[in-house]
Amino acid sequence: MPEGDTIYRAARALHRALAGQTVTRFESVYPALTRIAEDRPIVGRSVESVSARGKHLLIAFSGDLVLRTHMRMNGSWHLYRPAARWQRPARDMRVLVATASVIAVGFNVPVAELLTARDLARHEELRALGPDLLAATFDRDEVVRRMRARGRDAVADVLLNQRVVAGIGNMFKSEILFLAGIHPFTPVSVLDAAALGRIVDIAREQLAANVMTRSQTLSPSTARRTTRSLDPNSTLWVYGRGGKPCRRCGATIQSKKTGMDARLTYWCPVCQPATAASDSR
Ligand SMILES: [Zn+2]
Repeated sequence: MPEGDTIYRAARALHRALAGQTVTRFESVYPALTRIAEDRPIVGRSVESVSARGKHLLIAFSGDLVLRTHMRMNGSWHLYRPAARWQRPARDMRVLVATASVIAVGFNVPVAELLTARDLARHEELRALGPDLLAATFDRDEVVRRMRARGRDAVADVLLNQRVVAGIGNMFKSEILFLAGIHPFTPVSVLDAAALGRIVDIAREQLAANVMTRSQTLSPSTARRTTRSLDPNSTLWVYGRGGKPCRRCGATIQSKKTGMDARLTYWCPVCQPATAASDSR
């Protein structure tokens, strides 16, 4: 699952490249999209804005039409100059929006649909999203309330639940809980509002910092950073570091697969001590 900062940066780069420009070409391999585009042509409309809502990317065209895409696990958007060679095979193209100066290609984007503003307002998946960590206005109390409502759920799972808070993926989940000093399998019910609020603050801070400092390109290869280290080999505290020594205390970083899709969770057993409640899991 991509992290919210990836989608946010993609939206920002696409907005800079496309907004205000007229669409000269629109293609998709999805019949539902091409059918709508035949009835209500995209070519000739201008791109009004590109924005992110949680992990949804929304490209708004003039005349009340919005292209919603969701990357799921493997989707990505690339930007190319018209004559440039694509970095992915053409067969992976799912949707393409071009203007005179730039081509935006959605590769392996599994979810793509064209909606009116009215459809968008009624959209079940979008309506169910919790507050967006990267939104300009962010309701921290609402997120804390939604977290508390998850009761016995492990805090690690609650952070990934996009209905509680939108934007956190598996990497940030482990890093945020390390920075908060909280064991990932602690039930949210044993954490007080202050502890939950602190986790939310760290989450917002980390996502925002990664949006700001990472390169302006759409390349996912630029390393995320949650440590303050300038060493490119020590950008993360615990994620992907199972069996290695904790950068803070030297204890061995633990990892465990959880959930239906067996995502790995990483933590330091000393910096993030288990409570009696998290031990029982
Ligand atoms: Zn440690």
